[in-house]
Amino acid sequence: MRRYSNDPRTITVKYSGECASCNAVLRKGSFAYYWPSDGKLYCKSCGESDYLYFLSSAADEEVYLGTGNPF
Ligand SMILES: [Zn+2]
Repeated sequence: MRRYSNDPRTITVKYSGECASCNAVLRKGSFAYYWPSDGKLYCKSCGESDYLYFLSSAADEEVYLGTGNPF
């Protein structure tokens, strides 16, 4: 899969913060989803579905662009 600098990713929280959706506290060292495009952090339950959607749409894009085409 190709990577872009704005790709959302899973991170380990370096500075305690809050989930941008439900305001759950994200403690330092905990798991979170990070979206560089808008600079937001999401807890596992809030970020998971969007992240999985991103992964599936990125995979679809490769198919449409023929990136995996052997010819
Ligand atoms: Zn949340």
